[in-house]
Amino acid sequence: MLRSSCRPSEIHMSTTAVTSVPLLDTTRGQEAVFARMREVFDSVLTSGRYILGPEVEALEAECAEYCGSAHAVGVSSGSDALLVALMALDVGPGDEVVLPTFTFFATAGAVSRLGAKPVFCDIDPRTFNVTAALLEPCIGPNTKALIPVHLFGQCCDMTEIEELAAQRGVHVIEDAAQAIGAEWRGRRAGSMGTMGCFSFYPTKNLGALGDAGLVTTGDAAIAERLAILRGHGMSPRYYHKEIGGNFRIDALQAALLRVRLPELDAAHQARRDNAALYRELFVDAELAANADGTPSDSGPLLTLPTVVDPSHIYNQFVVRVSDGRRDELRSWLSENGVGTEIYYPLSLHMQECYRSLGHREGDFPVSEAAARETLALPIFPTLRRDEIEYVVRTVRAFSDR
Ligand SMILES: *Cc1c(COP(=O)(O)O)cnc(C)c1O
Repeated sequence: MLRSSCRPSEIHMSTTAVTSVPLLDTTRGQEAVFARMREVFDSVLTSGRYILGPEVEALEAECAEYCGSAHAVGVSSGSDALLVALMALDVGPGDEVVLPTFTFFATAGAVSRLGAKPVFCDIDPRTFNVTAALLEPCIGPNTKALIPVHLFGQCCDMTEIEELAAQRGVHVIEDAAQAIGAEWRGRRAGSMGTMGCFSFYPTKNLGALGDAGLVTTGDAAIAERLAILRGHGMSPRYYHKEIGGNFRIDALQAALLRVRLPELDAAHQARRDNAALYRELFVDAELAANADGTPSDSGPLLTLPTVVDPSHIYNQFVVRVSDGRRDELRSWLSENGVGTEIYYPLSLHMQECYRSLGHREGDFPVSEAAARETLALPIFPTLRRDEIEYVVRTVRAFSDR
C-alpha cells in the first residue's frame, strides 16, 4: 500500500506508552468478580455438593432464560454438549450430519465419535458462516441433522436454515459455543434449532475456570433425555435405560459461571465498542477500505469483519489480510508484542484424521482462503483504547515498511 500523507485523524501517541497487547487477558479488571467468586468457592466447598445439584440447576434455569430457550442442561464441555445433543437424536452409523469445514474441530469430532459421517460444506466469505444455499446440496437421504456454527460470535442466517431443515425433515443443532447472547433477527443463539450447544471454555465470552458446557432445547422430552444421557443413561439410580456417558458439570463451575452471567451483556457491549474503535481507526489509517467489511478493489491491507446482525458478540475479531501477507503480519505483530491467533489454519476436510473422506485441496475454496488469510486481533472487554491504537499503529507500521 502507498505511504499516505499525515492526516489530522492520525492516531495519537498515548502518554503511557503501550509496548505490548495480549490477545486475551481474562484477569484484568476482575477484582470485584473475583471477590464474589472466592465467596462462591467457599460456599460450594462447605456445601459438600460438588457435581450437579442446586448450583447446576440454578445455572440451567438462568441460562435457559438468557438464551430464550425453555430448557437447558449443563454438561462437561462444549464438545460434550455437541456429542450428547447428537446422541439425543440417535445419530449413529449410517447417518450423515452436515457442518462447515471452517470451524473448531469439536463440531465434526462429535459426529465421528458416534460413528456417523460429517459432511462438510463451505462458508460465506463475508461472515465465515454457513448459509442455507451452501448446506442444501449437502443434504442427502441419510442426513439426520445440520450443524450451523455461529462462528466468531455472529449467528448464521437462521431464517433460511430453519426453512431448509423443515422442508427436508432434518434437525438443526446450533453450535453456539462462540455465540452466547448473539441473536438472529431478535432470537437468541440456542433458541432456534432443535438444540443449541454452548461452551464455557475460558476463552469464550462466558468462561468458566475450567471445562464446562450446556445444551439448550425447547423440547421437554429432549431435555429429559439429555439429562439422563449426561449421567450414563441412568434412571432411576443404577438402572440404565440406554448407554450414555459422563457428561456431568461441576457444581463449582456452575456457581462461578453464575457470578459472571449478570456481567455478560456489559462484556459483550465492551467487545462491540472495541470493534467499533478498530473499524474507525483502521479506516482512518487507510488500512481498510470500508468499516463494514465490504471488500474493495483498491487493495487495502485488511478486510474487516462483516456484521449482518448488530448483536454480534465478537468472541473473536477476525480480519482478512490481503496479498498473502497474513503470516508476515502476524510475525510483525508478535515481534512488536501484539498477541494474535489464527482460527483456524487448516480446514477440517484437510485434517489428517479425515483423510479417509477423500477430500482434496480446492474442494472448499472459501474455507481454504479463510484459513490462509484470517487473523484474530485482541478484542477482550477490558482492552484499553491506547492498546487498540497501538495495534492499529503497529499494523500501519507494517504496511508502511
Ligand atoms: C469452543 C468450541 C467448541 C468446543 O467447546 P469446548 O468447551 O472447548 O469443548 C465447539 N465448537 C466451537 C465452534 C467452539 O468454538
